[in-house]
Amino acid sequence: MKFDLRLQLDLHLNPDELVACVGCGLCLPHCPTYRVTGEEIASPRGRIAAMRAVADGRAAPDAAFFGAMDACIQCRACEAACPSNVQFGHLMEDTRAAQAPERSRWQRAVEFVAYRGVLPRHRVLTSGTRVLAVAQRLRLVPTRFGLPQLSVRPPTPLAPDPDPDAYLFTGCVMDAWQRDVHRSALRVMRATGARVGLPGAGADCCGALHVHAGRHDEAVALAGRVMGAFPGDAPIVVDSAGCGAALADYGRLVGTADAAAFSARVVDFSTFVAGRSLATRPGSATVVVQDPCHLRHVQRAHLPVAAVLANGYDVKLTADDGLCCGAGGAYSVFEPELSLAVRDRKVAAIRTAAGTDSFVVASANPGCAMHLSAAGLDVRHPAELLEQRLGTD
Ligand code: SF4
Ligand code: SF4
Repeated sequence: MKFDLRLQLDLHLNPDELVACVGCGLCLPHCPTYRVTGEEIASPRGRIAAMRAVADGRAAPDAAFFGAMDACIQCRACEAACPSNVQFGHLMEDTRAAQAPERSRWQRAVEFVAYRGVLPRHRVLTSGTRVLAVAQRLRLVPTRFGLPQLSVRPPTPLAPDPDPDAYLFTGCVMDAWQRDVHRSALRVMRATGARVGLPGAGADCCGALHVHAGRHDEAVALAGRVMGAFPGDAPIVVDSAGCGAALADYGRLVGTADAAAFSARVVDFSTFVAGRSLATRPGSATVVVQDPCHLRHVQRAHLPVAAVLANGYDVKLTADDGLCCGAGGAYSVFEPELSLAVRDRKVAAIRTAAGTDSFVVASANPGCAMHLSAAGLDVRHPAELLEQRLGTD
């Protein structure tokens, strides 16, 4: 990161969104980075104040400013807790976009390869996955990364139904690394009577990580490709919380009526299942629900996860109001210390909720699942857990 105190940075923030914060501090207890550090600059209120100071030209975008912005996990728990409806996610995304050219050379190089060379090119991603799988077998990939056991073989293709009345979004990393979760989601959706289609060409990546990193133009281009891959008006079911939040925000990101209509078709997997009839066998195994931030705080769609699992499992909820687990897209790579400190709190909350050593964690987001798996927890997607309980005794 360059630290040029003479630098003037136009953050391009919406002035109305910027002044909406009244400084009440009600968001502070919900902010994972404030909870860990106790520092005002690591809180939503402190970050907004810093954005204002830079936007007004009262402060330079210096090391402390960039550090405070980079340390935000973009979990948006502050947004959900804010009585003044401050759109913190928009403010942070716009700040990241203004900040992107100022990142260090190595970070820009890593991001260029990841965001332009790999994520939007599914063949490159699946080929890279096989190389990674070989590296896993040679024990060259640290287990602390929490990667699932990857296969050196190409993943078995998913089969769509003819004349679909719903689609399943498949995406990039989840499709390459966790296609079996999609297979479980397809099976559960079909058990509800749905005919499930798959996206046509172009839906390689939703652009969520690009938005996180402030790569706005690339995210808009990816959104255009994704929208073209889902003809008609059938619901688009998403089994990844981060992807679902991104697709549901295309209306704002792209800013067209078509994009808004597309976003209105997006529905989270558990919400879709909860609205239909599904026969499951009762069971008593303990499942602790982890609410991914992009499901709870952004889509406000976390309750159906517990609802759909309740018949087949002894479902437990954490008592931390959905505090972030510290995964945050690429956050755990670029901010490892804070990410681990945040995760420690989440793991403790999960263990307390379980009340037993024998439990499984349900997580509807691949990034959270990997991050928590790396801490030694047994994490499954709600679709996998539901698939295990399909049918009647
Ligand atoms: S973001 Fe909202 S909750 Fe937080 S200090 Fe500002 S007005 Fe209060
Ligand atoms: S998005 Fe999350 S980490 Fe960032 S300021 Fe808000 S609560 Fe804190």
